[in-house]
Amino acid sequence: MTKEEYSIKGVSLYEIRNRFEIIVIRLMKQFIPQFPEFDSCPVCIEDVYALALSRMPSIYMKKTQDIPDNKLVNESIEEIVKYAIFQVMSNPKHEKIA
Ligand SMILES: [Zn+2]
Repeated sequence: MTKEEYSIKGVSLYEIRNRFEIIVIRLMKQFIPQFPEFDSCPVCIEDVYALALSRMPSIYMKKTQDIPDNKLVNESIEEIVKYAIFQVMSNPKHEKIA
C-alpha cells in the first residue's frame, strides 16, 4: 500500500491503522457519492473512517486469521460504512457548511 492509497479527496488516513482499513477506504470511495449531502470535508471523512472501523468488533479475528470472505460479512461491512457516512453527515462535528 502506498501512502496515496490511504487518502480520499486529499485527506490522508495513513496514520489510522486497522486490518479493515483498506476495505473501509474502498467502500467509502464507493459509497460517499451515494450521499450527495455528505460534505467530504477532512473532519467528516476522518470521522466516517474512524466510526466505521470502531463498529467492527464482531469481525476482529486472531491476527493470524484472514478476514472471512463471505457474503454475510461483506454485507455487514458495507452496511457499517453506509451507517457511518449517514451518521457523520447527519451530525457533523462542525457548523454546517452552507
Ligand atoms: Zn464536514
